[in-house]
Amino acid sequence: MKILFLNIVILSVALGAPSTTETNRIDREPSSNFGTTDFNQTNFQVHRDNLNLPLAEACDPTKCTPPKCRCSQTFLSKELPPEKIPQLVAITYDDAVTALNYEYIQSAIRKLKNPDGCKALATFFVSHEYTDYTKVHKLWEQGHEIALHSISHKPMTTYWNTADVELLKEEFGGQRDMMAHFAQIKKEDIKGIRTPLFEISANTTYFALKEMGLTYDSSWPTQHFTHPGMWPYTLDYQSTQDCPLARCPTASIPGVWVSPLLDWTDVVGNKCAMLDACGNLPEDDVDELFKWMMENFEQNYKNNRAPFPIYLHASFFLKGDNYLPAYKKFLEHLNTLPDVYFVTVSQIIDYVKAPTPDKPSKTCVQREKSNCKPRFCQLKKTETQEERWMKTCVACPSVYPWVGNPFGKPVKKRN
Ligand SMILES: [Zn+2]
Repeated sequence: MKILFLNIVILSVALGAPSTTETNRIDREPSSNFGTTDFNQTNFQVHRDNLNLPLAEACDPTKCTPPKCRCSQTFLSKELPPEKIPQLVAITYDDAVTALNYEYIQSAIRKLKNPDGCKALATFFVSHEYTDYTKVHKLWEQGHEIALHSISHKPMTTYWNTADVELLKEEFGGQRDMMAHFAQIKKEDIKGIRTPLFEISANTTYFALKEMGLTYDSSWPTQHFTHPGMWPYTLDYQSTQDCPLARCPTASIPGVWVSPLLDWTDVVGNKCAMLDACGNLPEDDVDELFKWMMENFEQNYKNNRAPFPIYLHASFFLKGDNYLPAYKKFLEHLNTLPDVYFVTVSQIIDYVKAPTPDKPSKTCVQREKSNCKPRFCQLKKTETQEERWMKTCVACPSVYPWVGNPFGKPVKKRN
């Protein structure tokens, strides 16, 4: 019995499973019970910060036009009827990229090709601890998007929803430097963040994002704007998106994009932003799971064609024997539809900036080759002296990289 328990724990860590706190937090999101009016105003809270940013005004779509600005709304463009809009599907994975979850994920998307002949792509919101940077390199080389999910991934809501600009720069800006270096990927290709536990520090998170030169955030769930779904928008003007976890931005922060997390509906009608956080899943049966996934997909496909989210922790596949087969069946079925494209979050934002009929882009993602010479490093965390193994594309650092020391430089011993 002891051995079995140990195996489960090790497997969860290797899969980059969310902490219990993270899953509970997501599960605790209230079900959709917003009224038709005033839900926005009542759910936004005013928070003190020292940023002195101007309060956002109501969005005027004649002044706020793509590519630089977009109001929060549920239609893409007056010129494009939904049937001419390609159905974009955003597959995202959160947390550490490890050898084990890399295989799970690859087995589901490796063979898929979009109708334009380009590879099916996904977005990885990577957290640092336990990540194998040589696998991150491979994902990037294949064209997938590598995005930021913080260095520490602290499982504490107050840590994230009260974070100041400096801390967020260390957690996300530091992680961008860390990832570009240890995974040997181009820093400019890292464009977005997802905060742990979806905890936003009101205006501060978005202001920090802009200061770091990043493009978008993908941490803000919506339960209200799911069908029809809300398209990505900028924070030049006031957002009309509901704010289920509170602490949403109220200031004008021009040019920063929000990619809203359109919640799924579980089998009893509750909302969930990540598939593994859905409280009431179908029974462990391929056909039942497939049917449930299709019902959620069709809410977008047969409606306004807002990008369809498939947001997961790889631990979803541990929920039962049939979860991975059902997921594969679902993706393979979507791949038979002539107007469905698996693309990254960045590609979705690029598309929204200049929408075209029928297909999302003229060219496939190409990556320049860069060198990755795999090395195993046995390191210690400076504060706790815990041991960590780290696989990197470059020489081993002196200590385990962490917040404030993203390159793992030698640390002077305290007297
Ligand atoms: Zn996470």
